[in-house]
Amino acid sequence: MAVASSSLLFLNSHVLSSSLPFPPTRPFPKPQSWFLLRAKFRPISLSITRAVKSDVSKEDIVIVGAGIAGLATAVSLQRLGIRSVVLEQAESLRTGGTSLTLFKNGWRVLDAIGVGSNLRSQFLEIEGMVVKSEDGRELRSFRFKDEDQSQEVRAVERRILLETLANQLPTEAVRFSSGLEKIETSEKGETLLKLNNGNQLLAKIVIGCDGIRSPVAKWMGFSDPKYVGHCAFRGLGVYSDGQPFEPRVNYVYGRGLRAGYVPVSPTKVYWFICFNSPSPGPKITDPSELKKQAKELVRNWPSELLNLIDISPDETVSKTPLVDRWLWPTVSPSASVGRTVLVGDAWHPMTPNLGQGACCALEDSVVLARKLANAINSGPASIEDAFRSYGSERWPRIFPLTIRANLVGSLLQWEDPIVCSVRNNIIIPKLVRLGPIMEHTNFDCEPLITQISETSGER
Ligand SMILES: Cc1cc2nc3c(=O)[nH]c(=O)nc-3n(C[C@H](O)[C@H](O)[C@H](O)COP(=O)(O)OP(=O)(O)OC[C@H]3O[C@@H](n4cnc5c(N)ncnc54)[C@H](O)[C@@H]3O)c2cc1C
Repeated sequence: MAVASSSLLFLNSHVLSSSLPFPPTRPFPKPQSWFLLRAKFRPISLSITRAVKSDVSKEDIVIVGAGIAGLATAVSLQRLGIRSVVLEQAESLRTGGTSLTLFKNGWRVLDAIGVGSNLRSQFLEIEGMVVKSEDGRELRSFRFKDEDQSQEVRAVERRILLETLANQLPTEAVRFSSGLEKIETSEKGETLLKLNNGNQLLAKIVIGCDGIRSPVAKWMGFSDPKYVGHCAFRGLGVYSDGQPFEPRVNYVYGRGLRAGYVPVSPTKVYWFICFNSPSPGPKITDPSELKKQAKELVRNWPSELLNLIDISPDETVSKTPLVDRWLWPTVSPSASVGRTVLVGDAWHPMTPNLGQGACCALEDSVVLARKLANAINSGPASIEDAFRSYGSERWPRIFPLTIRANLVGSLLQWEDPIVCSVRNNIIIPKLVRLGPIMEHTNFDCEPLITQISETSGER
């Protein structure tokens, strides 16, 4: 397919709107502010992009993967006046995984990119957590703000988070059914991306946001993430007449088995069950089988869990083997090679035991966008440096968190009855302090919105 799109390199999508098939979908900044932008982000080259072969088009910045990391990176770049194209293998935004909990670091980033208020209005603030044993006995409860006044916890629906981010971008910025199949480096140092729809793109900059099985990471020499010995069932219970729970995270700790549920909105409650398993087991897609297995695990546990599983629409129920990858210094490849860089799970898959995978992906996206924007401002030669600086800044943040999340998971998945009894009767009721445990949610982030004030997500 011959593609001949014109694109002025590194100008914001608004500036491009006159020459590209990307109609602006949101109010533009005031003219004087985008003139400033043009001056600030001077183009690397003003060449017109055209097809170099019948089916190869050129792009400046290609983001692979329209998950949380990919969309947040595209929005962050856009806020700084930089256009990118996002390739997504699926036909539409991914909705699997149903919900996730975002802590204050995640909310700082969402505020910085201008979507925090919009999302806040749709999801309940969670005030605290309660930990129970499998017989329903309360072991301990905490209020988040007693430990840290600035803490903010909400469970968000992944679908709404992704849609909110995507709605900040021009309609055609995200290209669906565009799975990356193969990567090659061209003689000029550009990167050739071959897609499973037959298209090929020659990219100056590639940002791999393609999740735990990232082909970009593989190409950069990263090993596959490692299965950690437990799997998670997840789902979203829907109470059409209103859900009955207080705004708290509820945890139930058993032996080699734990579960939790947290209200998401006035009608929805997210739940999960984590269980030990020597292998990830076969992939199960039949929702009734997934529900049956999940219920079997907690059949003698507090009944609200069984009820939640029953009232979860089929499409919200899934089973995921938990994996991570430890980024050992000197042994692991760097976050970037030349002008290709990784963000989110593609770089640092971590277990969900601290609820930090998506939060860290959001953090990555703003840090990277700022550094890339500064590099573009000071000339193309510094892009590699910007990516190295991103890797050096983010590694001390995500490496310890990955290990900590893994260790917390191992401790919580203990099977030994004596150890579990000590945990439930001494450690949790008497020794645990929530404040220090949640220090990792501290993350400062200035707004990226220099030219556009927050909108309610209009396109
Ligand atoms: C059970 C569980 C519970 C979790 N709970 C939480 C939580 O409470 N809080 C939290 O912060 N995090 C949580 N996480 C982690 C969180 O889900 C991930 O860290 C987050 O989704 C990472 O986002 P990402 O964009 O990097 O990857 P993904 O969300 O996986 O997105 C990757 C995208 O890339 C696309 N893609 C993949 N390959 C290709 C290709 N070849 N070509 C084009 N596109 C491609 C995929 O289709 C997908 O859309 C949890 C994870 C699990 C497993």
